[in-house]
Order: sequence, then structure tokens, then C-alpha cells
Amino acid sequence: MEFSKENFSEWYNEVVESAGLVDKRYPVKGMHIWRPYGWKIMMNIDNYFREIFTEHGHEEVNFPLLVPETEFKKEAEHIRGFEDEVFWVTHGGLDPLDVKMLLRPTSETAMYPMFSLWIRSHADLPLKIFQIVNIFRYETKQTRTFIRMREVHFFEAHTAHRTFEEAEAHIQEDIKIWKKIAKKLALPYRIVKKADWDKFPGAIYSLGVETVMPSGRTLQIATFHQYGQNFSKPYNIQYLNEDGEHEYVYQTTFGMSERLLGAVVGLHGDDRGLIIPPEIAPIQVVIVPIVTKKKQEVIKESKLIEQEVRDAQIRVHLDDRDNYTPGYKFYDWELRGVPLRLEIGPRDMDKRQVVLVRRDTREKLMVSRDEYIVKIKELLANIQDALYRRAEEEMSERIKNIDNIENVKEHNGVSAVPWCGSDDCGHAIEELTEKKIVGSPIELGEKKRCIICGKETEKIAFVAKPY
Ligand code: ZN
Repeated sequence: MEFSKENFSEWYNEVVESAGLVDKRYPVKGMHIWRPYGWKIMMNIDNYFREIFTEHGHEEVNFPLLVPETEFKKEAEHIRGFEDEVFWVTHGGLDPLDVKMLLRPTSETAMYPMFSLWIRSHADLPLKIFQIVNIFRYETKQTRTFIRMREVHFFEAHTAHRTFEEAEAHIQEDIKIWKKIAKKLALPYRIVKKADWDKFPGAIYSLGVETVMPSGRTLQIATFHQYGQNFSKPYNIQYLNEDGEHEYVYQTTFGMSERLLGAVVGLHGDDRGLIIPPEIAPIQVVIVPIVTKKKQEVIKESKLIEQEVRDAQIRVHLDDRDNYTPGYKFYDWELRGVPLRLEIGPRDMDKRQVVLVRRDTREKLMVSRDEYIVKIKELLANIQDALYRRAEEEMSERIKNIDNIENVKEHNGVSAVPWCGSDDCGHAIEELTEKKIVGSPIELGEKKRCIICGKETEKIAFVAKPY
């Protein structure tokens, strides 16, 4: 099968299925089936979340999927933000429920009634938990694998603190965690503050981690929210401070989802298919025996190599399928994005060497059997770095400083435009460009004039078409 990344949308929709990540034939819109290969990649990402959040003092929990309407309705802005996209459970068997329930679109309203029971004194703080669960949103727009789904594989960390400053410091720590995750997935990004009208329902402010896909559209791949006391008041989450007085806690969240995998697919893949960063690849090295002759010997040698590679803690797979040619196998594993291929044939055996082929550059190396394990480790590290660097370069090219509306409209990517920060000018930018303000970089730029009102400003708006 032939496909070209030039037509990104078509390429993306095709590759997620043909590379064995998902099956889209489930008869519910926006609910795809994770196939084993796709799920393994997602589990590698999840396991890294577990490792790093545990390292940073969070504990994993698991809350029920259903939230009673009564709890959901306690925070007014939160309801307004979600009421048109929740799935409702209205019946138990044939009987209408007294209190209907919804499938969590996120878990604030499931968790915070429990927080009010768990948190008693300052000694219970900070409270830092996370869970990895499925959430549900009734998307009416066109759905897209990993990017816009009705059932979403979701990560959410929730924290509670004694003071606003402690909550602020926690968000800074979350950003440090994010940087490690980005490195693991080789994802380039920019962190922006969301415009006030675009923040999470109920938050004081929201930060978004944005990446730019080859289509020029932005993809929000992580968010940090400062809730202040906006949830602790309606949910009555109080603690007894050192002076014996009751105070409401300050809360934050950090959310991510399967969109991360969507970004990995979109940013690293090429015309041959996926390229999975070695750190999260279920198979880091695939061994393809070249069995033109001396079949028994070559297979035996391949198994020996497989064991040696595995013993070196490298995730390896031996493709000893009988009924496929080496050429077909190359194609198949390139499509699935295995970072490194190891070929071994009778001639290589005579020379005591193996052939290593990089998925990203397709560079081919003959390596002696005496040093091939060291070489594999070195190449996997190189591929990881190279993928990040290439993606960062390509993303940077899609972000341009622009200061007139027509050019913003035409630019296929992110326009960084001077914006005074007022809601009026913000809405005008969105209307005139038919794009969205995805947020403002935290760092200020040089003094320029607001693209709408002409007032001097150092603030920048990233204007783009988001997914
Ligand atoms: Zn302005």
C-alpha cells in the first residue's frame, strides 16, 4: 500500500489502522478498538507516567466511572463547560433512576466529594493523586483516532494544598515532570497560557502544552490547571490549619491523554509508516533472518542473537515467519515503526557480523558480533535524539511572527501575533482570521503594537487552527 504524508489527514487516518494501532470498525462513532500493538505503546507511556509521578510523590487511585448528577452540579462554571458533552445514564434496568448519573468527562466531580472526607488537617496536605482511566465526551464534531474521541484514554493528576503559593509551586513541578515526558516521547512543544474565555471550566487559569502537527494545526497534548479554591468551596474541602482554623484547600490538576500517541504518530512518521521513539517502542529491535540458504543454521543463529539482545534489556522480536519474504518483513516492520532492524544471513554469519538498519534515516551498518550490543544501544539513543531534533526543527518552522491579519489568515501553522490581551481584541483576532487563539507564551516578546487596536504590548497570541 502506498501513502504519502503530504496529504497529512489521509495519511494519519490510514496509518493508525494499517500499522496495527487501532481498529476503527467498532459500531460507535468515536470509539475505536486498541489493538495489541497500539495498546502496548500506550501501556509503555502509562507505565512511565506511573514511574515518574510516583517518583514525584503522587499515588495512584481508581475512581468509579459514574458520577451522580447532584455532585456534578455543585460547581456552576464546570457544569456549563461540560453539560452539552456528557453521556447520561438514566435507567437501572427498566426503572428510571431517582438521581441520574453521568459517565465522567473528567473526574473533579467524582473525586472532590471524597477529598472533603479525606482531608482533615494540614498534616493531610499536600494530597497528590493520579489515575489512568477512560473518560467519555459526546463529541459532535468529526472524530479522529487518538485526537478527538468519545471514549478517551486519560491521565489525570489532582492535588490539594494549604496555600495558593504551594499550589503555584506544584504547577512548576508538574512542568518539570512534563519536560521529562516530552523527552521520553521525543515531542517538541510550547507551553501557553489559555485565553480567559478558553480556560478549563472552573479554573482560575489554564496552561496548555501545544504541539504543531504537519497539517499546520495545533494539538493540545497536556494541560495544567490552577483551581484556587473554586472547587474546594462548593465541595467543602477544608483543613484545620496550625492555628486551629478551618481553611479551604487550593487545588491543581495535570491532564494528558492518548493524544500524546496521536502526536507521536503525526510528528515522527513518514511515507513508510510510523516511527516509534525507542524509549516507548514495544519492539526496539526486530531481527529478520535472511534465509536464502542454510536455513537451519541462520534460524539457530537468529535465536541466539535474540537471546543476547534480550539479555541486554533491549525489547526484541525475532520475525521467523516462514511464509513471508525478507522484503515483505522489512516493509511490515517499517510500517509499524520499529526503530532498528537487525538482518542476519549466511554471509553475515561467515563474517561474524550483523546488519543494522535505522528506521528513521534508513542508514545501514555492518557491525561485528563482538560489539553489536553496544552499537545497538548507541543507535537507539541516537534515534531517540534525532527524532526529537527533527520534530523540533519542523515544528519551529511552522511558528512564525506575523503582524497583519491577512498573513495570519494565510499562514498554515501558528502565527505569533502582538496582542494587547483584551477580550475585545482577542475575539476580533479570532473572527477576522477565522482561527483560534490557542494561548499566549509565558515569556513576553519585544514591544510591538496590538494587531487590532495598535496599543503597545509585549504579549503574544499564538493564532492557529487547533484540532
Ligand atoms: Zn488590542
